[in-house]
Amino acid sequence: MLEDKNKQRTSLAELGEFGLIDHLTQFFKINHETTVKGIGDDCAVISHDNETLITTDFLVEGVHFDLSYMPLKHLGYKAVMVNISDVYAMNAEAEQITVSIAVSNRFPLEAIEELYAGIQLACDTYKIDLIGGDTTSSTKGMIISITAIGSAKKDEIAYRNGAKPTDLIVLSGDIGGAYLGLQVLEREKEVFKVNPQNQPDLQEYSYIIERQLKPEARKDIPKLLKELEVKPTSMIDVSDGLSSELIHICTQSKVGCNIYEEKLPLDPQVISTCEEFDLDSTTVALSGGEDYELLFTVPIKDFDKIKGNPNLSVIGHITEENEGVNLITRGNQSIKLKAQGWNSFNQER
Ligand code: ADP
Ligand code: MG
Repeated sequence: MLEDKNKQRTSLAELGEFGLIDHLTQFFKINHETTVKGIGDDCAVISHDNETLITTDFLVEGVHFDLSYMPLKHLGYKAVMVNISDVYAMNAEAEQITVSIAVSNRFPLEAIEELYAGIQLACDTYKIDLIGGDTTSSTKGMIISITAIGSAKKDEIAYRNGAKPTDLIVLSGDIGGAYLGLQVLEREKEVFKVNPQNQPDLQEYSYIIERQLKPEARKDIPKLLKELEVKPTSMIDVSDGLSSELIHICTQSKVGCNIYEEKLPLDPQVISTCEEFDLDSTTVALSGGEDYELLFTVPIKDFDKIKGNPNLSVIGHITEENEGVNLITRGNQSIKLKAQGWNSFNQER
């Protein structure tokens, strides 16, 4: 984890809005020819021949993140991942973002610098151009809104509604880790409240904590699929949990599906942490969100092209709509899946 280096405290009022924007954005590079004009005018300008994809997300302190265990640099990085993941989930390339922030006077310049260090690391790593945003104050806490812009050829875009009976259901990477990482962090926060001297040893949870604090969007998957000459018939990213994403694909495609418990890709740390917390690993895989893996369907004729690929697991297949959305257990029972994903409006506050 990164050290919080907020020793110095420069108030945001000292710089003023324009000074702050210049200061934060001075080291960002432009990577794409499609970016005609970035930061500095009334609008950014983008130009390309392909389709344009646009997606936006809010991150609100106390609702989507907790700064007591989320370092600001990680938050900046994750905020970008959450957005560009949606672009990759259309089988497209993410190229630009805008970043809008509202911050209360609780945050000094050094804190916003940390946030932007994370945003910059994400932009450098994923070749994303920061082309604009807005900066304002809030009466309480921090709010971040990022918009990501991408492009793809018209016939390459994968929507949620194209899955067909007999298609294979494929998942990148492994799932459940981000949710369990959050459980570990929440537990340590409670321990810390009781005994602030206690320095937790989180080594054995390093993978799942990283999945929660520093998720990576699967930029590599649209590229891999192009190389394999596989066009996904539908695609979505796993932000709310596998069950609810499967239901989205099946509802929009007017199909059903069977997925197989024994095929769910789980990291050994997910399995051992489930045992420790007395959680069922299949439930965690189905309902834990925030893994930012890609879930997609491919025609069965493409099985040979994807089988054995270490990045991809075939977890089931699409059926007729009237068969429903089912999990086939290790004991060969069929269980109807329900959406239990994260929903911001579920919890009363
Ligand atoms: P305007 O008055 O037209 O809204 P601003 O003074 O808010 O312009 O912003 C000036 C420039 O800086 C614009 O190009 C805007 O997109 C960019 N910008 C403002 N805030 C941010 C931010 N938080 N991150 C990145 N770019 C920003
Ligand atoms: Mg503005």
